[in-house]
Order: sequence, then C-alpha cells, then structure tokens
Amino acid sequence: MGLPPVDRSTLWPYEDGEPGAFYYQRYAHPTGVAAERALGELDGGEALLFSSGTGAATSVVLALLGPGDTIAVAEGCYYGTPTMFRVFQRWGLNHVEFDQSGAPPQGVQLVWLEAPSNPFLTMPDFEAAAAHPAPMLVDSTAATPVNLRPLEHGADLVLHSATKYLGGHSDVLLGAVVCRDPATAGRLREFRNRTGIVAAPDPAYLLLRGLKTLELRVRRQTDTAREIVRRLEGHPKVERVRYPGFGGMLSFDVDGDARRVETSTHLIRNATSLGGVESTMESRYRWEGDRVPENLLRLSVGLEDADELWADLEQALAS
Ligand code: PLP
Repeated sequence: MGLPPVDRSTLWPYEDGEPGAFYYQRYAHPTGVAAERALGELDGGEALLFSSGTGAATSVVLALLGPGDTIAVAEGCYYGTPTMFRVFQRWGLNHVEFDQSGAPPQGVQLVWLEAPSNPFLTMPDFEAAAAHPAPMLVDSTAATPVNLRPLEHGADLVLHSATKYLGGHSDVLLGAVVCRDPATAGRLREFRNRTGIVAAPDPAYLLLRGLKTLELRVRRQTDTAREIVRRLEGHPKVERVRYPGFGGMLSFDVDGDARRVETSTHLIRNATSLGGVESTMESRYRWEGDRVPENLLRLSVGLEDADELWADLEQALAS
C-alpha cells in the first residue's frame, strides 16, 4: 500500500456553508492527521505534530505550565532542553536538574525524563517518577516506540524529535508529543492552533514514509551498535563506553584528542544530529562545554556495514 498524496492546500471549501474536518491548514491538514494517527498507534496515545522537537517541547511548557512553576529535568539530557527552559526564566518558569536514575524532587509541577539521555545514555527510574504527584514527560527520541512505549511505564506525555529516528533520513525537521489524556491533547492542540508552532504537510509526509521502515532501521542500528560497543570496549584507546543496550546512539571517551578522532573518519560523517541512515559522530564538548567530558564522542550508528564502520573507527582512533 502506498502513502496518501501530500495535500498542500492551505484552505478547503466549507461544506454547505460550514467548516468541514479541514478548512485552514494551521488548524489541521489531512497529511498531518494521517501521520499523527500512525505515530499515536505506535506509542499508544494521541499524537500531535509540531514544527520541531524543540517546538514540541516549547509548546508543552507554555501550554501546560505557568509563571512560578518548576520543572524537574533529568541532568545530562539533551542540552537544548534546559537551554530552552532558561529562555523562559524571564517569564517565571523555573527548573531544577536531578539524577533520573532516582526519585524526582518534590514541589515541582512537571517531571521531564529522557530515555536514554543524550549523550550520557542514562535511563530513568520510571517507577519513582510515576509515584511522584507531578505529570511525567519522557523524551523518547533516542528510544523510539520500537524500544520503549513510555505511556506503558506511567508517562503522561511522550516527546519525540521526529527529526531523528522517526524521520530517519536526515531530511526533515519535525517534533511530536503523544498524550495519554485526550483533554491534555486538546489543550496542546488549542495552544498549537493559536501560536502556529505547526508542522507543514511535507514534513508530515516524510514522517509517514519514515515510519514504514522505522522498526527495520532501528533493529539493524541496534545490532550494529551492540557490535561496535563490544569492539570499542576492548580498544586500548577507549576509556569508557556508554550504551543502554538498545538503539543506535552511543557515546565513548577516547584516551587522547577527540577532535582529532572525529575529523579522521571517512565513512562516518563528522556532523551533529542523530538517527539517520548514515552514521554521524561528533565531540559534544564543542556545544556543551564543561557539561560533558572534553574527550567524549557521540556516535549515531546508521545502516552501514558493521565491519566497515569498525574499520573506519579503528583507523580514526589510530590517527
Ligand atoms: N530531544 C532530543 C533527545 C534531541 O536529541 C533533540 C535534538 O537533538 C531534541 C529533543 C530537539 O529536537 P529538534 O532538533 O527537532 O528541535
């Protein structure tokens, strides 16, 4: 079965003088609704698309929290998340970081977990977070619904940067929130309609296309990543490897100059981002500074042959 055609209309005629299911693109469009339905089924909730993962995160914060509220956010999570929270400090939003392998602090209005965290690859204690009175959000970008369905672990909201594995081909910027509660989905939809942090039809189409091969890609990336991790752990120039046992993302600390290693690969692209069919690797120190070890490299394993990837890594580590 093929995909539905992309409908790029910004308007649809009224039916007998009344708006039908679709009437203006900012409110809803057929390609977006089809993609939301497909992702919602995978995660077991009601999905909403946004213009990027960051747009999705911004929408959650602004739609569901208010001035004076505090978010407990997993330390070592995607650095753009607390960076974005700091933007909203001016409007009275607070955040505290905590070790997500334990219980979240009391007195917060939202618990923000990341599974696994990027680039430290820690996993949350879902039980401890579910026992907390505040709603639980899980950024499941790196796990994907293939490896984790956070709503089954007590999460109220799942966040995805669909730019990564869900899109899967490094050619679409897109975000999503999947809600357990339809009323929360309604609040987010209303916020999205009013603020315009929306996903256009073409990105939604690319998500639908990406989802067709998601499981196959993630399973293969997991197999290859496990093999790379095994070999890295035995390499004399590697001090430490971080990997939760699933998915295509890992990080490792080199004994030496990470910059030299990342610029010496040929097959693995020295680029940011993750989750694509082509492997990418970068030092996170350039972006995150002292938040990460200077010798840490994050590797996103693509669909290349494991032996070819290893040969590339070996020669880069020897450079
Ligand atoms: N969450 C995680 C775990 C990420 O890795 C990223 C981007 O790297 C984001 C959210 C932000 O997503 P986007 O770049 O689509 O705004």
